[in-house]
Amino acid sequence: MRMLIMGPPGAGKGTQGVEIARHYGVPAISTGAIFRSNVERGTELGLVVGQLMAKGEYVPDEVTIKIVAQRLAEPDAAAGFLLDGFPRTVPQAEALDLLLAEAGGPLQAVLSLLVETETLVARMLKRAEIEHRADDNEDAIRRRFEVYQAETAPLLDRYSGQGLLVEVDGVGAVDQVTARCAAALDAKVQGR
Ligand code: ADP
Repeated sequence: MRMLIMGPPGAGKGTQGVEIARHYGVPAISTGAIFRSNVERGTELGLVVGQLMAKGEYVPDEVTIKIVAQRLAEPDAAAGFLLDGFPRTVPQAEALDLLLAEAGGPLQAVLSLLVETETLVARMLKRAEIEHRADDNEDAIRRRFEVYQAETAPLLDRYSGQGLLVEVDGVGAVDQVTARCAAALDAKVQGR
């Protein structure tokens, strides 16, 4: 199973990604989580990406693509994976197509989590009190939405055109949303 989970900031990609990956027995690969872990460990990569992330800006494509290429080459990704937070730009999507052509095969589904903007902002401000993520402050949140609309939202049309898009209502209890996602993905994959 090779799939993507997409959605605006705060939609629950990370939370649902882990659960859905478990459902299919594949690794959940989150570029945001990889970057945050590098920031926490103070690695060279962490120093490069930390400031950008805190401002709500994207990490440069070449940096991000290299990280994903390395991660997909690890043995546990050979039987499938769920990518969370990648691709986020057209060049990243093109790079992923090339990576998949070399190894693995094409994507089978792209899950899009649908949540209204007001709900997203409320969720992130609440998360800020609990997790203290550097990018969960008002300025960075506003910037993340702008960048998402400009750079990432257009990718949904790309995957819709390829017949891969599975749209799921992302509002509700976590396990309820997971069940909805799994049902929609199962139907999609069986229908192919
Ligand atoms: P969210 O989607 O809620 O903003 P993520 O954990 O997916 O959270 O991403 C956090 C930040 O990590 C992004 O705002 C961006 O700075 C960086 N990032 C993650 N994935 C990518 C990517 N594919 N390309 C560029 N930057 C990325």
